[in-house]
Amino acid sequence: MFGPEEVNAVVIGGGPAGCAFALRCSALGLRAILIETKRGPRVQPGETLHPGVEPLFASLGVLERILNAGFHRHRGVWVEWNGPRAFQSYGEDAGGPWLGFQADRAKLDALLLDAAREAGVEIFQPCRADGLIYDDAGTIAGVETTDGSIHARWVIDASGRHSWLAKQLGLEFEHHSPSLRVRFGWTSGRKNETDGEPSLQAHPQGWNWHAPLGVDRCAWVNLRIPSAYHAASADGLADARQSATGFEMGWRLLPECAAPGYFVLGEAAASLDPSSSHGVLRALMSGMLASHFLSGVSRGLMVPAVAAASYRNWMLGQFIHDSIALRKLWQRHPSAAVRRAMTERSANQRVTEEHSLATR
Ligand SMILES: Cc1cc2nc3c(=O)[nH]c(=O)nc-3n(C[C@H](O)[C@H](O)[C@H](O)COP(=O)(O)OP(=O)(O)OC[C@H]3O[C@@H](n4cnc5c(N)ncnc54)[C@H](O)[C@@H]3O)c2cc1C
Repeated sequence: MFGPEEVNAVVIGGGPAGCAFALRCSALGLRAILIETKRGPRVQPGETLHPGVEPLFASLGVLERILNAGFHRHRGVWVEWNGPRAFQSYGEDAGGPWLGFQADRAKLDALLLDAAREAGVEIFQPCRADGLIYDDAGTIAGVETTDGSIHARWVIDASGRHSWLAKQLGLEFEHHSPSLRVRFGWTSGRKNETDGEPSLQAHPQGWNWHAPLGVDRCAWVNLRIPSAYHAASADGLADARQSATGFEMGWRLLPECAAPGYFVLGEAAASLDPSSSHGVLRALMSGMLASHFLSGVSRGLMVPAVAAASYRNWMLGQFIHDSIALRKLWQRHPSAAVRRAMTERSANQRVTEEHSLATR
């Protein structure tokens, strides 16, 4: 359908990571084609956006749309962890308090995709990536899709938890936490006692999260650690069968998240449990950074191997930085079984963290 000389990158996935990459490519004069398998906006969790996304939205040229979308703003998070509930503010400066967003994800993702389309990015939707295309030398040269072949110099995997490219290439994830199981949903009405701010509350096997989305809807997430459940059920405190429900959200990192010919962005490359509230922020950052490296390579300022290595280092550094901060929170969890489960690290994880800290 498209020849390799025409397309700099084919992007798989139209979430925050894929859209950020495509928007920056357009601004940098690169041609990207984005494919998204879903027909329209999808209902999905991940609404609490850290105030740090605001300058990223500005740099992507979408801040005005985001501000006009009417998303609920909040000043911080109520935390009830190992003592009475306390408010943790995001901070403030001379301009006033820093505000996060409670962004309905279907609306946010549609808004980002529209902005990319208007910026000239070609978007195929619904269109699914089905397989990789290789050239005669065995180098990645594009993607087979439900709409035909797209030849491109680089393949960008922004498929979120599907981790499409890792599956295609047989790449292994590193697991940095025990199994974590998550359930989520939405209720009507909001929790008045938190005055419109999200709240995080420890429970004996994990935590609960509530986030008001305006006045009439509240998102909730429940996270449990099966191994902590097993410890509690041995003491007759919990029913271990409940631990198996929900889906897996353990911390994971794809060490080979870039190589000449591909970049893996956002949640397809790394994810922590949602209490970090950094998923969307990191997804946007990864897309912006990968486009910057691709631009350097296209202009002959960087060789592909250096671009890929720099991106891998950045991804590792972000992941370790966030996981160390999150581990500190877990170490103060009121349940000893939870603390034990979250502090046990494999030798592999320890080596990765120590290596990263030593080389930063
Ligand atoms: C319960 C829960 C709560 C969370 N809460 C928060 C929060 O409060 N704040 C926060 O910042 N983050 C939160 N997150 C994390 C956040 O949702 C993710 O980090 C973020 O969505 C990652 O963005 P992404 O662009 O990498 O992937 P996604 O947003 O998942 O986008 C991937 C896209 O790729 C498409 N796709 C997949 N496979 C293919 C294919 N083969 N071909 C074409 N398209 C494909 C998908 O349809 C999808 O649109 C939460 C996650 C969960 C599960």
